[in-house]
Amino acid sequence: MSHLLSRTLGLALGAGLLFLVACSAKEPASPAPAEPDTSAAAVAEPAETQADHDMDAAGHEDHADDDETGGGTPHVHGIADLAISREENILFGELISPMANLGLSESDGAYTDVVTAELGGLVEIVGGECAASVPHPMTDSSSGHTDSIVHFTWTCAKPDAVTAIRFAGFEAFPVFEKVGAVYVTATEQRAGELTPAAPELSLK
Ligand SMILES: [Zn+2]
Repeated sequence: MSHLLSRTLGLALGAGLLFLVACSAKEPASPAPAEPDTSAAAVAEPAETQADHDMDAAGHEDHADDDETGGGTPHVHGIADLAISREENILFGELISPMANLGLSESDGAYTDVVTAELGGLVEIVGGECAASVPHPMTDSSSGHTDSIVHFTWTCAKPDAVTAIRFAGFEAFPVFEKVGAVYVTATEQRAGELTPAAPELSLK
């Protein structure tokens, strides 16, 4: 029970930090991304109908404004939030991203078997001899679009030897452009923006 509570608090703290990072990093007056992400959506969802694309493009302005995802970053295709917290030798992770980043239909809101099999490879803990548990994927479609929420757990033999958190999904899922990452422990906070060129958040 205490583990669950700590985990919840840790993730909440991570989400709060993400919110601060997101607010300080973005111009309040221009919540929409500079580059149109409809092209990214087209790459992610080649089978999507034109009607879906129109709805997608039309819906994005609204979502960029209302910030209902809870992760601090509005639903923008290509962008994701990754929060990692540590409790003793256990690392907990939460990845929040548009389903479209995973090449999935946001209207269906379902994970395919192929994508489910790839989830375990999305995030890697560098160093520390950490063993990953099977990720737990969920969805949030409380807005017009659908967010993927994936929870990860790692048990580390040498948690102090963890040197970095790596987002390893850029190759398998090229729609991902930027992942805002935070690492939070009782005594430490780190944050960084992960990209295909710089996919690691260093913890050293
Ligand atoms: Zn979307």
